[in-house]
Amino acid sequence: MTTANTEPSTTPSPVGEELLSVTGLVKHFPIRKGLLQRQTGAVQAVDGLGFTVTKGETLSLVGESGCGKTTTGRLLTRLLEPTEGRIVFEGRDITHMSEGKMRPLRRDIQMIFQDPYGSLNPRHTVGKIVGAPYKLQGVKTEGGTKKAVQELLELVGLSPEHYNRYPHEFSGGQRQRIGIARTLALRPKLIVADEPVSALDVSIQAQVVNLLEDLQEEFDLTYVMIAHDLSVVRHVSDRVAVMYLGKIVELADRVSLYEKPMHPYTLALLSAVPIPDTKRKGKQERIRLQGDVPSPINPPPACRFHTRCWKAQDICKVIEPPLVELAPGHQTACHFPENATAEQQAAAESAAKTNPGKDSLPTS
Ligand code: SF4
Repeated sequence: MTTANTEPSTTPSPVGEELLSVTGLVKHFPIRKGLLQRQTGAVQAVDGLGFTVTKGETLSLVGESGCGKTTTGRLLTRLLEPTEGRIVFEGRDITHMSEGKMRPLRRDIQMIFQDPYGSLNPRHTVGKIVGAPYKLQGVKTEGGTKKAVQELLELVGLSPEHYNRYPHEFSGGQRQRIGIARTLALRPKLIVADEPVSALDVSIQAQVVNLLEDLQEEFDLTYVMIAHDLSVVRHVSDRVAVMYLGKIVELADRVSLYEKPMHPYTLALLSAVPIPDTKRKGKQERIRLQGDVPSPINPPPACRFHTRCWKAQDICKVIEPPLVELAPGHQTACHFPENATAEQQAAAESAAKTNPGKDSLPTS
């Protein structure tokens, strides 16, 4: 068993070829006040993430709103500059790569945005929107851009005749398909999808999710899926990382996470999801967390979840539990993990002693 927190190389890689690797990723947004705009604090949106993404897999980032998952997506696509840490894509360190050097890489790393209404320019035709990546990257396609765009429209379940229409003429689901067509134009390797279906009607969500899965298979795409709906996540993910107040508190393959969650926060999130076909059906009790997520400006010390955790003990308020691999590929950051064997409990205790997290309080 190994520990993995913010240090490089301690995050176990899933089986397969690594596409993206993140270590110690931090994003703090400074808060400035006064005439001199002195920094008086910081919003600690992301605070020490470490994970890898394998080619062809779907890794989902889940958690309540404000947990830092969207910020993480924007860091991975370099729409935001990280404060600390390292992002490596296909062996290249892109953490602080200049916009000029990033431009060719933007073909490989694309983002699908949550809002299918706000992410499409209402004054541009579908042809112009979907064809924009070719123009921006100076890419010539066989048969011309129009033909390529029309093929893309067909690929995402729209008609080539939609080429000259405007976004307002489409439903939410169709607009999201337009956004997906634009994302696919340059055949990216990694797609960060930020809540790709949460703004859509429930009846349409399944269609878009199925489309994303079909495209993944056809083009060997790798997804980082950002979501709060755990039913959707269960459907699409290979692995799931649960975030709380800027940190990953649990990371596991989908089956382990849903069948045998180890972090109390994960358990609470899952207890709110109807699970139709598992052994847990019937035994599932809803765990209602008390209070709201604390402010990321001044997060609780040690275990950030201790102010809402029903299992919290004194140690949880003093020592930050490191993210520990308690079972193959299953990492948890908790002093008293759920569903743990005696050996796993001992491993969690030992890791907290030898490698406490940086949010631990001084002991003297
Ligand atoms: Fe709860 Fe303590 Fe585990 Fe944090 S470390 S999740 S407070 S039991």
